[in-house]
Amino acid sequence: EAKAKGRDTLCFFDPAMQAALLTSIHLERDLRRALALEQWQLYYQPQVDISGQVTGAEALLRWQHPERGLVSPGEFIPLLESTGLISEVGEWVLENACYQLARWAQQPAFCHLTLSVNISPLQFHDADFLARVEAVFARTQAPLERLKLEVTESLFVEARDNARDKMLSLKALGVRFSLDDFGTGYSSLAYLAQLPLDQLKIDQSFVQQVLGSSANAAIVESTIVLAESLSLDVIAEGVETQAQQAWLLEHGCHAYQGYLFGRPVPLEVFEAPFRAPDA
Ligand code: C2E
Ligand code: MG
Ligand code: MG
Ligand code: MG
Repeated sequence: EAKAKGRDTLCFFDPAMQAALLTSIHLERDLRRALALEQWQLYYQPQVDISGQVTGAEALLRWQHPERGLVSPGEFIPLLESTGLISEVGEWVLENACYQLARWAQQPAFCHLTLSVNISPLQFHDADFLARVEAVFARTQAPLERLKLEVTESLFVEARDNARDKMLSLKALGVRFSLDDFGTGYSSLAYLAQLPLDQLKIDQSFVQQVLGSSANAAIVESTIVLAESLSLDVIAEGVETQAQQAWLLEHGCHAYQGYLFGRPVPLEVFEAPFRAPDA
């Protein structure tokens, strides 16, 4: 009887877990199809300066799923990473972003804009990452001094020197680096100081609590000071309220991204204000 019960226990599935498992199996199947059919789209979220002027955008990946509609990266990036498909999709993102930068460079209303692109650590650590990126640059002829690659601290957990060398090679071409989600990782400050970074991007979890928690306020404040002492730019992500922006301004952060200034939107929507006759 105990044996039968044990077997029962083994066969038992929590319905919610089973649903999640099925969802991810279907998602993986759909992802492989999406890759073949290129069901991807880039959304653009504005980044603004102290006067509210748009200085650039972050390119954020969306998946136009035939039945589910627009799927957010939080749902499928982890799956792309665990299946190893992220490198291929990441290259699609970079190539499209670079073509966009190259198009903007031809138009006076857009030629000042920068574009930030997220790079997965897995993609970055590929043996042929540099060669592939250089090929994208050659194909697209993008103005590389206006391209920012967003990397996260997890990139430097392994093969640090190798990661640093790759960054240096790309920097030699003019590319900038931004450290995304800053404050959520585990890197030592001593090591960070040795990386060829250009910008720290304060994670939205801190930004959104800046007025609600003195601990978060302290973290944001010291990040701004750290950036300044390392001669790095600093940008706050996830700015949602005027009060948050005012606090950031007062503490020396002069670049912002967040719903207060604009959500991620399709290209035409992002470009519309620049095209308006009296913009
Ligand atoms: P991230 O790079 O930190 O991007 C910022 C995320 O915060 C975006 O979510 C954006 O929509 C959201 N956000 C921006 N402002 C606000 C705000 O004021 N309030 C709130 N609540 N959220 C805000 P999204 O587009 O869903 O992307 C999530 C993450 O997926 C990104 O975080 C990034 O890590 C990853 N991701 C997106 N596109 C790509 C890509 O092309 N490649 C890779 N490797 N990862 C990507
Ligand atoms: Mg990012
Ligand atoms: Mg971020
Ligand atoms: Mg983030």
